[in-house]
Amino acid sequence: MPDIKDSVGEGAKNQGHDVALLQAMLRVIKDAKNAPYLSVDYDGSYGGQTRAAIERFQIDQKLAQSPVAKAAAAKGPAAVPPVPAAAGGAQETLGLVAPGSATLQKLNAMLPATHQAMRSSPGSKTVYIAADAKDAATSKAAIASDAEYEPTFRAKLSNLVQQMYDTHKIVLWITPTGRRRTFAQQAAETQTNAGPGESNHNFGRAADIGFRRFQWVKGNGVIATDADWLNGLEAAKAGEATRWWNERDLLAAKEGLLPLNFERVHLQAFAQKGVSNQRSLAQLLNAVSASNMRWKAAYQADLQSQGKYWANVGTAKAIWAGNATVTKSDLAKARTAATGKQVKDADIAQAEVDAMRKTLKADFQAADDNWVKWTAVP
Ligand SMILES: [Zn+2]
Repeated sequence: MPDIKDSVGEGAKNQGHDVALLQAMLRVIKDAKNAPYLSVDYDGSYGGQTRAAIERFQIDQKLAQSPVAKAAAAKGPAAVPPVPAAAGGAQETLGLVAPGSATLQKLNAMLPATHQAMRSSPGSKTVYIAADAKDAATSKAAIASDAEYEPTFRAKLSNLVQQMYDTHKIVLWITPTGRRRTFAQQAAETQTNAGPGESNHNFGRAADIGFRRFQWVKGNGVIATDADWLNGLEAAKAGEATRWWNERDLLAAKEGLLPLNFERVHLQAFAQKGVSNQRSLAQLLNAVSASNMRWKAAYQADLQSQGKYWANVGTAKAIWAGNATVTKSDLAKARTAATGKQVKDADIAQAEVDAMRKTLKADFQAADDNWVKWTAVP
């Protein structure tokens, strides 16, 4: 049941989130003529229109007397019949609504079913609908059972979902493209410059975790539903959308989950600052290579020369596509360096170049298969 935390009305504390919630109630509850008690959009700022709406509601619902009726009653008991006491016997102060008061109880009783889970949050003037606990549990379970996340990271994400629900009754979930991406999936990505093995998403330590069916109440009382990025709220009130992302980040920080500046929906297991994704990939390639290949970042490989010759072999995208920039000359030099015997370019067959490209790609495949062994390298 929606409740305010402090009083709203003349001379009351009138905190923005309380005012917004009360206004939203008065915006959706209709009088005998089917007109909303608050005829203007709610905005979380207390003023004359809010006061008038509160008073009109209280008088209509016989929770308080109008000043005219009160004055008439004072003149003589015969002039005006006394106002019956509200439920619980409380006679409310006209124009003032206290937490848990008879006025608030009556407002709640008159709310349409769609709006009965309305709530607001300190620091925000946006009213929203509390999500279902079962949706939070479903999201949590999906993360907890996702073997494509590194186990420690998975536990932190799952805790974050619980914390967000416990604190705000809001459900976070992993976006449809927010899980681990295989190298093949990364290669197909068009929205990023990161090649296969160069995104934190390739190693189960990054997630795009947005909002699941965030239902917020527009100024006119109509419920809007956003997903993932809060695009609707962003368009209507950018500051409020930012605020909810910040709330998520605040709880995420407590779990040791860190955001990225350029991708709001993203959280990861470590701070990006100072981390080289390319050197991290090179280290993983060295750890998992099944071909006795040595690797250096962005990208050099020793072409199985025991580190005696290094060739530039191209970008992650090129290597993954089987188009590493290896030449007959590279192979000849690598063999010369490894054996101490002169090998000429003409001694190398094209099939050997093709085979080396396949071997380089196979190391990338080994890195993909062994993603859990990845560690961040400066
Ligand atoms: Zn991401």
